Amino acid sequence: MLIVMRPEILFPLFAPVTTLKGVGPRMAPLVQKLAGPLVRDLAFYPPNGVIQRRRATAADAVEGETAIFEVTIDRLIPPHKMGAPIKVRAFDGTGFVHLIWFAGSPRHIEGLAPAGSVRLVSGKVEKFNNEVQISHPDYILPVEKADEIPLAEPTYPATQGLGSRQIRKLCMASVALVPPLTEWQDEAWIKRQKWPDWQTALQAVHAPQNELDLQPEAPARSRLAYDELLAHQMALARRKMNRQSTPAPVIRPGEASHRLLDIFPFKLTGAQARAIEEIRHDLKSGEQMARLLQGDVGSGKTAVAAVVLADAAASGFQSALMAPTEILARQHAEKLGPMLAEAGITSILLTGRDTPAVKRKKAAAIAAGEVQVAIGTHALFQDAVEFQNLALAVIDEQHRFGVRQRQQLQDKGKSGVHLLSMSATPIPRTLELTQYGELDVSRLNEKPPGRTPVTTAVLPLVRIKEVAQRLKAAVEAGAQAYWICPLVAESEAIDLAAAEDRAEALRKFLGTEVGLAHGQMAGAEREVVMNRFAAGDLPVLVATTVVEVGVDVPNASIMVIEHADRFGLAQLHQLRGRVGRGAKASSCILLYGAGEDGGLGETATKRLEILRNTEDGFMIAEEDFRLRGGGDPLGLRQSGFPAYRFADPIKHRQLLLAAADDARIMMGRDPKLQSARGQAIQVLESLFDWRTDRPNID
Ligand code: ADP
Ligand code: MG
Repeated sequence: MLIVMRPEILFPLFAPVTTLKGVGPRMAPLVQKLAGPLVRDLAFYPPNGVIQRRRATAADAVEGETAIFEVTIDRLIPPHKMGAPIKVRAFDGTGFVHLIWFAGSPRHIEGLAPAGSVRLVSGKVEKFNNEVQISHPDYILPVEKADEIPLAEPTYPATQGLGSRQIRKLCMASVALVPPLTEWQDEAWIKRQKWPDWQTALQAVHAPQNELDLQPEAPARSRLAYDELLAHQMALARRKMNRQSTPAPVIRPGEASHRLLDIFPFKLTGAQARAIEEIRHDLKSGEQMARLLQGDVGSGKTAVAAVVLADAAASGFQSALMAPTEILARQHAEKLGPMLAEAGITSILLTGRDTPAVKRKKAAAIAAGEVQVAIGTHALFQDAVEFQNLALAVIDEQHRFGVRQRQQLQDKGKSGVHLLSMSATPIPRTLELTQYGELDVSRLNEKPPGRTPVTTAVLPLVRIKEVAQRLKAAVEAGAQAYWICPLVAESEAIDLAAAEDRAEALRKFLGTEVGLAHGQMAGAEREVVMNRFAAGDLPVLVATTVVEVGVDVPNASIMVIEHADRFGLAQLHQLRGRVGRGAKASSCILLYGAGEDGGLGETATKRLEILRNTEDGFMIAEEDFRLRGGGDPLGLRQSGFPAYRFADPIKHRQLLLAAADDARIMMGRDPKLQSARGQAIQVLESLFDWRTDRPNID
């Protein structure tokens, strides 16, 4: 395992901020809160604004600009009553300049601007009775000190007790400690980009001359963003390399795998076959696999999982398939159990619903190695469950589990356990690189044949009656439908009441039975309703919360979503994925609540349009991501983007892609970073130090 040591040349940057002049015990925590505990953190704390000043006269000053006047102080006018401002009248050759303070001591102000003195004063120009007025001038200095007033002054995000000006001073002091370093970027690349070297770039970032210099595309900012992204991608690449050098059992397909493939009632899609091939490549390598299998809802991830579970059994190892909910675990067990059995593989379902006695019995069977495939919920990684020789853990709907839970399951294995995570949440490439950079990714980009595309309609809520009428006709013809009521989130009780009312109204209108499933129902009770719907007993299912992920009801062909505007796009896409699973023509109706103007906002309209135009989950995620300016479309923020200082994964998307390639190539060529560029990159990595202060990357 390669660990990058911090080179001596960086020591001054890694000293605590208290080593800077003026940072004492009062200020240190404030600095730490804003920028971080180290000198480096201040150097890496870019300004977010710039004040541009110009020399002006009372006659030519423009309201709103920040200007410097050379004036003669006339006199101080004390407040004429409590709470009134302190004023100083001054003039230049062209007119009066009034300085005012709403707080402060007249004595102090008199000291700064004694009557009769000539002063440079700077501040934002206001016009009052056509005369220049400046509230709280930012500088008042004797003329000889002109160069202490910057013509372009960066401003920094500040906090109570630590103002922008103080931060600027500290940043300047830190930047002064930044040494020149050997270039770590590729020579040809940086020449093409026309970027400054790293030291110049840092100095430039802290000395913006205008708004353009603050833009993410400004050369100095781009350079540092690339440095940061490259450092991160290198760290991820290294983590991947270290993981790959963790030994793990060798798994190869065998008799049982072939039998299972024969038992499947379908032929694998090309995408499934490719994914299996990629996974098998990892499993036989003797090194630990960590792979993400991404596939849109309905793309057939379960079948891929089943094949590799069979591989593990064929190689004499145990494996586990973990699902986020009872109902999903049960569905997996019911579907896969018999097929696995037919292929000669023993499996078991382990859930939280089992009685303690049953649990003990099942755990004992797993411990004795009598069970080859354990299917279950998080109950699978309870401490009481000991595997005899777990070699592969498959996690379905992985985004619904926490990082720790995933780790716990993996820890069950005695040596490295291969990990296959499956997710239907489309992850844009940008997120994939920053969040899952150390995982290998397989994609199911092709759906099994025989699916009918889902027709999507976007309608205002006022047309709900029409929708109900159409639903009635469809139900009479034997169709099944989901009807989703939104989460208002303000009050679950209100949501629930709304859903109950809706179910009741539909019951009356349709003259049929209507099921209701919501988050507050006991799990078992909800399961009964879901199961009846799945069995075709109920024509319509009204649900408040998202219908259980991954549940498969091929006969359901209609999805109505009330207040679709209140859902995230990815969520709507997942909901829509519940239909269009059978041979029936399917439709999804997105009902939106009209805004005050009777329509839907522009962004909201665009978002729903995206959904109407494509069924490609990845495209939807990327688009949604873009429209929201990199908001949090997938609810991934908790585990989300690392806290970059210079880089913005959305605005620097191209740089991110380039840095990922750069890191990959570098790792392939010079994994120990011994070449000249490799050594420079080691310094870069230490500089950004992703290992020590970025706990949120996992
Ligand atoms: P998801 O990727 O959403 O988990 P599933 O694994 O539940 O999707 O598969 C959805 C449906 O497609 C299931 O009914 C499954 O049996 C079926 N299926 C999977 N693979 C194929 C295939 N190659 N051909 C036809 N149907 C398939
Ligand atoms: Mg699934």
